[in-house]
This record gives sequence, structure tokens and C-alpha cells, in this order.
Amino acid sequence: MKRIYNFSAGPATLPVAVLEEASRGILEIGNSGMSVLEVSHRGKDYEAIHFDARDRLLKAMGLDPAQYTALFLGGGASLQFAMLPMNFLTTDQTADYVHTGEWSNKAIKEAKRFGKVAIAGTSEADKFASIPKNLTLTPGARYVHITTNNTIEGTEWATLPNTGGVPLVADASSDILGRAHDYSRFDLVYAGAQKNLGPAGVTIVVMKKSLLEQANENLPAVLGYKTHAAADSLYNTPPAFGIYVLGLVLKWIENQGGVQAVEKRNQKKAGMIYGALDEFPGVYDPAVLAKEDRSIMNVTFRLRDTNREKDFLAGAQALGMDGLKGHRNVGGFRASIYNAFPEEGAAALADYLVKFAKK
Ligand SMILES: *Cc1c(COP(=O)(O)O)cnc(C)c1O
Repeated sequence: MKRIYNFSAGPATLPVAVLEEASRGILEIGNSGMSVLEVSHRGKDYEAIHFDARDRLLKAMGLDPAQYTALFLGGGASLQFAMLPMNFLTTDQTADYVHTGEWSNKAIKEAKRFGKVAIAGTSEADKFASIPKNLTLTPGARYVHITTNNTIEGTEWATLPNTGGVPLVADASSDILGRAHDYSRFDLVYAGAQKNLGPAGVTIVVMKKSLLEQANENLPAVLGYKTHAAADSLYNTPPAFGIYVLGLVLKWIENQGGVQAVEKRNQKKAGMIYGALDEFPGVYDPAVLAKEDRSIMNVTFRLRDTNREKDFLAGAQALGMDGLKGHRNVGGFRASIYNAFPEEGAAALADYLVKFAKK
């Protein structure tokens, strides 16, 4: 099979080595005589996969398992938009949210169902083409929520905000382990796996145990963080196949030299594409101009001459590049180049950008 360069924003490209191993696992896991899709989540074959993935995840994030817990849940990051305030916010409390795009908007809407929301900062005035630099934090806020990488708009936080002791919470769905953040700065991080870490279906929630202790106990069991933590994410049937592939991706990250090495390569890939865009300001209109705010995961841009957009896309397609169309709400183009996206693919796009500009 000839693989194309898949710039899809999510689900997204996975390492070939992972796909190969997963396809073997679909036939038989270990010497069990069963597919990974068939084994009981209460059996030893699955348990080994489950706990191995959990340990590797905390290790890759550089977090101490004595202080942090990692959960594997279903429902996507979208369920976390609601589960987070459901577990930690009450109607008389305020949570600070930084509003940086469409995903933070959804997170804010859900939080408002459970408590008060203060917008601690927003880049709405410049159509979310930057990250707010000055935050107005609410004294005594329950937590401060940020979106570390804004998938649709193509911005990311260059440095994490100082919250002065208020728990820092992040939706890291589109840059989890794509950047070597100091993850101990966060009190809670959640992310769907389908961009940087695996297939759709599993969502990771990593939080400080000291925060977990404060979670609401008066919830339907399946919506309580404490339920899942007490059961090691085996309260009900977990998204087992997703967790299996997540484990394989974490191993792959280790083989690449760890998160630091992966970030370095991600920086290089993004640098090639931004470099080509910036070389031709008369042709390309990058959505994000401030270099420190530019995402290394999602490169968003338009053509100055929108009449050429169809041509641009067709030309890319002919060269085996797919998934470059921007999000339906913002239009233009978006090159998503997560962890598993190959360097040659970024080089191919940069090369095409230059050739197209010179045409
Ligand atoms: C993709 C994405 C989501 C939505 O994730 P689902 O798993 O589809 O619910 C939320 N936040 C960010 C930043 C995303 O990139």
C-alpha cells in the first residue's frame, strides 16, 4: 500500500510501525489465541495492556504516579467539557476560562451549566489569531482553564500562565505529548487520543491526586472522576482497543527518543511549512502572524487570491497530500502535522508551497 501524506486534523495519521503491530494484535494478542478485540477487560492479557499504557503515559508526561493519576475514559474531550465542571464546580463558585477559539467556547458553554464562568482573557477581538497575554484572574477561582493548542485557529500557548496557586486545567487534545510541556504545572489535563496519541475512542484525563480528593461524589457513578479512579478506569468496559493502540504509540514515542525528541521534530516540520508561507507574503496569508503564538501542530493559512484555492487543493491532492482543507467554520487551509506525521510530508508540502507560489 502506498501511504499518502494525511494532514487530517483528527483522527490523524499514526506511525506505520504502530499500525503494523496493531494489525498483528487484531489477530492475536500475546499467545492468548485471541484477538485484542476479543479478550475480556477483566482478564490478565488486557490488564497487562491497560496498566502498561497508564504507566507509560505518566512516565512520558514526566509525572510522579504517587502524585498524579491517569484515567482512560470514553466520550471524547467533549465529555470532559462537562465532566470537569460537574466534578469540581458548584453554582456558587467561579471558574476562570481563557477563551481562545471554538473549542474553548464549547468548554465554557458546558461549564456555565454548573457554576459561574469568568472569562480571564480572550483573543476574540483578533478572531482568535493570537493567545491573550494578560489574564484577569478571579481571586479564589475554582480553577483556570486553558486550551493549550487551538486546533481550528492554529495558535498555541508558548508559555503556561501563572495562576498563583489556583489549579491550572487544560484541554490538551491537540498537543498532548507533541510538546515537552512541564506537565507538573497542570493540576488536570484532558485530551482525546485521536490527534497525537492513538485512535478515536479513548480520552485521557490526568490529574493531581490532591485535586481528585475534592471531586464531587454526588454524581451518576459513570460521570464521577472518583468512580473511575477507584476502579483504575475499569469501572465499566473501557475503550480497550484505543488504550491498546495508545500504549503502542507511547512505546513508539520512547523509541523516537522521548517527548523532547518528538517536539524537536515537530518544531522542524512546522518551521519548514511556516518558512515557505512567510517567503511569499503576496501569495499566502498565514492566519497567525505572531510567531510565538503559532501552533506547531496545526498550520492555518489562506491564499490571498481565493480564486486559486481550488487549484491549490487539486495540485496538493495530485501529489498525494490529503486533508488540507481548513475547518468548515473558518475555511482556508490547515496542515495538521501531529507527532506521527512524517518529516518528508512536511518537506513535501513546503516544496509544493514554493512551487505553487512561483507558478
Ligand atoms: C478535537 C478537539 C476536541 C474535541 O474532541 P472530541 O474527542 O471529538 O470530543 C476538543 N478540544 C480540542 C482542543 C480539540 O482539538
